[in-house]
Amino acid sequence: MRRLRKLIPGLIVGCLALPAAEAARGIVDLDPRAFVAGEASPPPLAAPDGGIAFALPFSSARDRVYWDVPLRALPPTAALEVDLECDDPAAVRALSLHLQAGGAWASAQQLLAAPGRQTLLFRRSDFDRDPWPLADSAPITTLRLSAWKGADRDARLVLRGIRARAFSVGVVLGSAAFTAPGEADLAEQCAVRARQLLDRAGLPAEFVADDFAHLDLRPYRLLVLPYNPRLTSAQLAALERFVKRHKGTLAVFYNANAELARLLGFQPPTYATAAADWTTVAFPENALPGLPPAMAHRTRHLLPARAKAKSALELGVWLDPDNRPDGKLPASVVSSSGLWFSHVPPYASPAAVQWFLAALARSDRAYARERDLHRAEQDRRDAQAAALLAQAPPAPKNELRAVWAHPIPATSRPETFRHLADRGLRTVYEHMATAGVLLDGAREKPLAAALADARAAGIQLHAWCIAWSLYDLPAEQIAPLRAQNRLMQDSNGNELPWLCPAHPENRQLLVDSGIDLARRGIAGIHLDYVRYPARAGCFCPRHRFAFESTTTAFHLNWPADVREGAPLAAEFDQFRRDEMTAFIAELAAAVRAINPAVQVSAAVFPLPEAVEAYGQDWPAWLRAGHLDVVAPMLYEPTAARFADRLDRCLAAAPAPRKIIPGIGTSADTTQLDALSTAEQILAARARLTPGFAFFHLAPHLEQLLPVLCPP
Ligand SMILES: [Zn+2]
Repeated sequence: MRRLRKLIPGLIVGCLALPAAEAARGIVDLDPRAFVAGEASPPPLAAPDGGIAFALPFSSARDRVYWDVPLRALPPTAALEVDLECDDPAAVRALSLHLQAGGAWASAQQLLAAPGRQTLLFRRSDFDRDPWPLADSAPITTLRLSAWKGADRDARLVLRGIRARAFSVGVVLGSAAFTAPGEADLAEQCAVRARQLLDRAGLPAEFVADDFAHLDLRPYRLLVLPYNPRLTSAQLAALERFVKRHKGTLAVFYNANAELARLLGFQPPTYATAAADWTTVAFPENALPGLPPAMAHRTRHLLPARAKAKSALELGVWLDPDNRPDGKLPASVVSSSGLWFSHVPPYASPAAVQWFLAALARSDRAYARERDLHRAEQDRRDAQAAALLAQAPPAPKNELRAVWAHPIPATSRPETFRHLADRGLRTVYEHMATAGVLLDGAREKPLAAALADARAAGIQLHAWCIAWSLYDLPAEQIAPLRAQNRLMQDSNGNELPWLCPAHPENRQLLVDSGIDLARRGIAGIHLDYVRYPARAGCFCPRHRFAFESTTTAFHLNWPADVREGAPLAAEFDQFRRDEMTAFIAELAAAVRAINPAVQVSAAVFPLPEAVEAYGQDWPAWLRAGHLDVVAPMLYEPTAARFADRLDRCLAAAPAPRKIIPGIGTSADTTQLDALSTAEQILAARARLTPGFAFFHLAPHLEQLLPVLCPP
């Protein structure tokens, strides 16, 4: 469920608050005669109030319509900005821009956020190939605007301009040369996270190469170091010039560099770690304008700097697992030169954006404008969410509202459960086991206490059990499994951090933990990671043996014959699906033999990738009655995409009441505000699902609930 190390840049909602200062330059004539309609695409027309109107005839079979416009040479630019409006974004799966230079095309895609006017940003780095690979390469001569079919409806797009733009914010992208060995991927994930945070803050940024000692940093007002663990003295000198001479602002994340901390007026950080995750930063009330009360961020490693210079201010403290503030661990610190956060950039939740803008405005007053714009926009969207829900038909009486929860601190559990129940959230999937190993909270006494708290609040407490992944399992618990060759292997024979499902003792381990939990009065067993790590595994000798005993093929060339695209790939995929289905059947039967009232459910990937790539044939699990319900993880940024994916799941399910759509309020790939969440809730209600499940229980969700679930 948590894929902290697999943040995929992917598609994000391209809508941005329009930033002020940076110049943008029109690159096309806003004249319909300049645009040439592509194959089977309607000709553009002049819009009555200026701009160009494009008809999108998606009630027909057309999957795409497009128009080409000639350009004079377009010099290298950080991004193209498309200013447009659309009356029905759900009819549009995506919009893409294509730039033609010589015989080759470079393409980039974005999503429409909502109806109405918006600006989509296509960064140079978003294109599938660099449109400007070399200074002397062929000039870009044509721009193509493509709209791709979403819902089966006609829609209309009005183009208000396409502009080239530069950025005053840079995010330093760590490379292999300036990170620890093997950490370039992590550095990229952190850079992407920082850019998402900046996008949401109305401060779109570009990536800056980390050999920046020789670059001219003067075009930037703000430089962000998302994860840059190795800084040379030349780089530090460049940063010093940037801060002192050019009066630039630095935002530094998870860095141990003492000199850098001193440059910003901070005491050098000291590394801190803990046995359990820190999950929340709490901010003092009224310390700064616009600061949120709390911000979710999960980590076990910190590099907190402390205030030293007069202008420096410590901002926020980490809460321990029992939600007590740890005063020795300031979450962030800010001075007139910049800000410092004790871990990598947080996901772009509304609270994280508020914190970032409040701190940034404390560092440089000029950013108060972005801070206030964001606040006003957020207030407007919250009011719109409340109005939307108030106008919609009321929620069904017994709507199932569920939430996934990481282990809940025992001390705060009664209050947490009461709050959830007050908002009608009466189903909690709490993480209690990984790979058959019970977490502390699932042991005899703590679980009995948790179940008593749940009964008192009227909560159905389900055990969220991570099945095959060893995610987060302590090394000492993995060691014996490894020693017994019970882990998955990739096609090169390398171990994967997953239990192999072909190993009978592994299956027994998982079944036994389910039986154990069912016996102790849990309301449900909610399985997660009942799947393969896509096609990375498993190719272990047991899998080979098991597959060989089912296949009719002779002279199996293992693993070449079963790899993706190989002759026996489809047969191997089916074998994997059957194996996972047999496990589900075995576990569900064992749990129900203990107590038929225990609900058995699973968090699953949406279709089609669940079945195709992950061996997770959940439609079959539902049809056979092995599972009571499934919760597809439909973590999408927009209601249109959410609804589209939900429709596919519903089409494959035996009945809508078998599907509890998972809404990604604070998933790794999506951070939704009240309005985006409300739109997805209404999409689920319109499709008659029994309810929905939020991912996941965090301060962010608690801030949304008063709007989403009024008493
Ligand atoms: Zn295996």
